[in-house]
Amino acid sequence: MEGKTKRNEAPLRPPLEWRRTSFWDEERLFEEMERVFDICHGCRRCLTLCPTFSTLFELVDESSTMRLDGVAREDYWRVVERCYLCDLCYATRCPYIPPHERMVDFPHLMLRAKAVRYRKRGGGSLGERLSISPDALGGVAAIPVLGRMVCAAIDNPLTRRLLRVPSETGLAGCRRDTLRWRLARRSDMSGKSARQMVGEGVVLFVTCHGNYRFPEVGEHLIAILEHNAVPVVVVERERCCGMSGLEGGDLEGVRKAKEFNLQRLAKWVGKGWKVLVLQPSCLQLFRRWLPALFPDDEMVRRVGMAVLDPFEYLMSFHHAERLKTDFRHALGVVVCHLPCRLRVDGSGAGIRELLSLIPDTYVEMVEGCAGSGCAPSGGGARDSGMGERIRQIMPDHYGSACMLAGRCIEMERADGSRVEHPLALLRKAYGI
Ligand code: SF4
Ligand code: SF4
Repeated sequence: MEGKTKRNEAPLRPPLEWRRTSFWDEERLFEEMERVFDICHGCRRCLTLCPTFSTLFELVDESSTMRLDGVAREDYWRVVERCYLCDLCYATRCPYIPPHERMVDFPHLMLRAKAVRYRKRGGGSLGERLSISPDALGGVAAIPVLGRMVCAAIDNPLTRRLLRVPSETGLAGCRRDTLRWRLARRSDMSGKSARQMVGEGVVLFVTCHGNYRFPEVGEHLIAILEHNAVPVVVVERERCCGMSGLEGGDLEGVRKAKEFNLQRLAKWVGKGWKVLVLQPSCLQLFRRWLPALFPDDEMVRRVGMAVLDPFEYLMSFHHAERLKTDFRHALGVVVCHLPCRLRVDGSGAGIRELLSLIPDTYVEMVEGCAGSGCAPSGGGARDSGMGERIRQIMPDHYGSACMLAGRCIEMERADGSRVEHPLALLRKAYGI
């Protein structure tokens, strides 16, 4: 696996100076985009990494001069829109990142461009604002009749165009039986009881997708934790972590989400509990983007250190010789897609390690874009070919650590096969 940065390394990366006036100066932003895009055009190492770079290089190659000076500035936004801030180019490819004198930080530049544009457009259309608020959308979708009507309207191409909702903002997957609804009858799961809980355990940040679209994934994790006698609660209340707002350039929205969520997570982190996050994009927000945006915020730093991917936590539990390995069912050949956001800091390594503990189970990890676009809506380029790559291996089971990517792979295969989240597979192996 590629990757040269490790979690908790000394931060060499200059912080995002978004509170400075110069950050918001559009002319300066264009000058910086011209400088960096020109370096990228000469380098092209990231050509196959994501659609952002292929869009940039196509614009250059198809321009009259075949250089950046032949590309209209308005077209730069097409590049910016394709970036979903996974940070992979910075973390695994770019030889010109600081402290190199060329000082290329492509993801930070894309975020700056998104923020400048968001502010200039006053937040964009109602549809665009809705598309970066998955918790609001999920909440509406969970309302019996109204929710179905809103879903139908937004899933309809005509109303979507009228509302200027970005394409593929699918709400059809939102469920009324959310994870929080399913857990409501369990008073022991309530995050209200922080003071009474003793010892160490984990608090679950369920995420919008974990709550509204894929509630069974959280149930799998809870079953696994309980099988291993790990105390687990669900954070009392949460908002969208802010990653959706970040992708839309709404930095003030990210700040508000941070204030809300960290206030509720802090009491658990203060007790020494770990925070498990179900969706990789949310994990990345807590670990990488909040520290970049709020470098002097001690609570951001402390929560960021306590946040873990479920498999990362379970592997640390195994290394402490506390994880039960009383597996009752072999899985055979398993192919698991590793999302880019877990590749960035190597936090996805635990998936293969842990599933490989299951007898008669062979695990192959596959990397690359699965077509989810990692957007809040889960709608990106559909023709990624990931489904076909997996089909050729002919696995007994396949899945992705990203719930959205998994759904995209399943849709691409369209052969009646069902994606299984690696937590579902682990639970299946335990037979619980
Ligand atoms: S941050 Fe991710 S999506 Fe954006 S340009 Fe880099 S690799 Fe592509
Ligand atoms: S981000 Fe770095 S590695 Fe990627 S194309 Fe640009 S200069 Fe090259």
